[in-house]
Amino acid sequence: MQPEHQHLVLFEHPFFGKMLMLDGATQATSKDEFVYHEMMTHVPIFAHGNPREVLIVGGGDCGIAEEVLKHKSVRRLTQVEIDASVVEFSKEHFPEFTKPVLTNKRFDLIIDDGMNYVAKTDRRFDIIIVDSTDPLGPGKVLFSEKFYAACKRCMAKGGLLITQNGVPIFQAGELTATISRFRKLFADGYCYVAAIPTYVGGHMAMGWATDNTRLRHASVKTIAGRYKKAGSFPTKYWTPEVHVAAFALPRFIADKVANAKKR
Ligand code: SAM
Repeated sequence: MQPEHQHLVLFEHPFFGKMLMLDGATQATSKDEFVYHEMMTHVPIFAHGNPREVLIVGGGDCGIAEEVLKHKSVRRLTQVEIDASVVEFSKEHFPEFTKPVLTNKRFDLIIDDGMNYVAKTDRRFDIIIVDSTDPLGPGKVLFSEKFYAACKRCMAKGGLLITQNGVPIFQAGELTATISRFRKLFADGYCYVAAIPTYVGGHMAMGWATDNTRLRHASVKTIAGRYKKAGSFPTKYWTPEVHVAAFALPRFIADKVANAKKR
């Protein structure tokens, strides 16, 4: 299917099930989507502790939105997606994501370029989750310093910015560039990791930017308490222990993050 912005393919894989590809890159599969969607969502929300307003940039398949809406404390979730056809396609092929989301009155969908939206909105967000494609085509601007600066402008005090940042073993430059840009804008620029089988290459990095330098040092006890307060909804990957461990970076990634100087 050739929508406006990207080439979209869905195929049924004997092991991974439904696989959504955009411009030849795996976006989500029904077999392992839970890893990425849970870690991009529950880590920032439980680290923050009480987010009310959440923004997703990208996220067309609605897998992230489905996880965010499990948090009853979130009063309003806004998703800004550039390509309406990805959402339309997902309605047909990933109803397990789109159904609970598109019918939820706490959810707003805006079709726009994420760069335009964060540059203009007068709203303020406790958490911004950038569930983007790779830094190619329409996704390229979402890795730029001007985008991160515009995100900072529309973040509430102590807010948190989370980004899809590729697989460091193959995309190290992408990660260090993002961390360097974060460190020019925020008190804390870092990342955490998770292993997603279909994002080939071992660990996937999730960028982390905030002025609240305490957020990523919350203890397992604190995170477990917040999970209990949130009703201990079922998860398949995220746990309070996995949450805290995700910030313990393997040395080759830790060295790249440590050497990512402001530039
Ligand atoms: N998890 C996937 C990954 O890691 O590659 C990303 C999934 S999600 C489908 C990516 C979404 O970002 C797509 O729906 C794409 O249309 C959207 N996107 C790309 N560039 C964008 C932009 N500039 N503004 C808003 N959405 C954008």
